[in-house]
Amino acid sequence: MATSQGKNWASIVVAAGAGTRFGTDLPKQYANLAGRPILDYALKALQSVGPIVLVVDPSHQPLYAPLAVKYPNIRIVNGGATRQESVKAGLKRLNDAKPQYVMIHDAARPLLSNDALSRIQSAVEAGAKNATLAVPVIDTLIRGNDVIDRNGVQAIQTPQAFPYDLAMNAHDSAQKNYTDDAGLVFGETGADIQFVQGDAENFKITTPEDLERAERILLARLPETRTGLGFDVHRFGDAPVSGTIKLFGADIPSDKSLIGHSDADAGLHAIADAILGTIGAGDIGLLFPPSDPQWKGMDSAIIVQKALDLLHAKDGVLRHVDIMLMAEEPRIGKHRDVILEKLSNLLSLPSDAIGLKATTTEKMGFIGRSEGLAVQAIVTVR
Ligand code: MG
Repeated sequence: MATSQGKNWASIVVAAGAGTRFGTDLPKQYANLAGRPILDYALKALQSVGPIVLVVDPSHQPLYAPLAVKYPNIRIVNGGATRQESVKAGLKRLNDAKPQYVMIHDAARPLLSNDALSRIQSAVEAGAKNATLAVPVIDTLIRGNDVIDRNGVQAIQTPQAFPYDLAMNAHDSAQKNYTDDAGLVFGETGADIQFVQGDAENFKITTPEDLERAERILLARLPETRTGLGFDVHRFGDAPVSGTIKLFGADIPSDKSLIGHSDADAGLHAIADAILGTIGAGDIGLLFPPSDPQWKGMDSAIIVQKALDLLHAKDGVLRHVDIMLMAEEPRIGKHRDVILEKLSNLLSLPSDAIGLKATTTEKMGFIGRSEGLAVQAIVTVR
């Protein structure tokens, strides 16, 4: 990376929008792109730059909180009514750090490449005061019946990058609304815009079709398919006080408890081990040693999330899981929809990418004698 002067940089990611054109209640920057929120990709791409100010709508707290845990160099700040006010709030949040340079990026551009990032950093470090990624417009442009001369016409992308003080002063003085920060810095300071070669794949996700295109591009970059296997057994104990046991993250009625150090969810343990198997990351006993009292009674969803984080850190994408529960009891048929919904949310998979099956062992062996239950899981990742 071109950040020998990394300590002089900070970035601002603007994620405060409602994303209403997306047609769902979920703001688009939090929509699922290959198993992670769209915003996650921008934050990962900017890790090498320095501190990140993430400008949010505080009502999205449950959506951004996990990302703030995952990326400890993030500072959260509440946005304003417009994108411009949000950027200004982000710039102000850097007032104490006073970075030499700042870049401003859209939350909904997940496919920013390291090369494009390096190009804009190099341009600013070489003296550009007002730099933006841009791509030439290839399509013919028409307004009404008039063909517009596209010679010199560029489509603007982000990040845009500036000396920090210049950007802060420009935002402080701006009285009108600008479409983007390069336009604002030019309008307020006269600093010419320097166009830095962008990337056709660094497009902004606006519609569900854009999301599908981004997913196709991401998967095309991951030609390798891997498979991981998980297996877990837990012993039955006395009747549970709650009347339920945890299985696949769901509360399943049972007249026997499951004994274990965590919540004893053998289903999630098998899935987590299968995910870890795809990246050679050992098993959950290694990550969450039973000897460590802090994991006592823990929610096993945390174990699966940790396995997914490790997978994502290697740019892996979970595509499918197939599960076999081996037990005389409980019977899960009635709870199938609840379990599928839990797993779909936890694994960010559609329910048709989750195989859920159960069998008895015809009264044979420890399972047949109802001494415990066992779960096998197999996962496919790209
Ligand atoms: Mg276990």
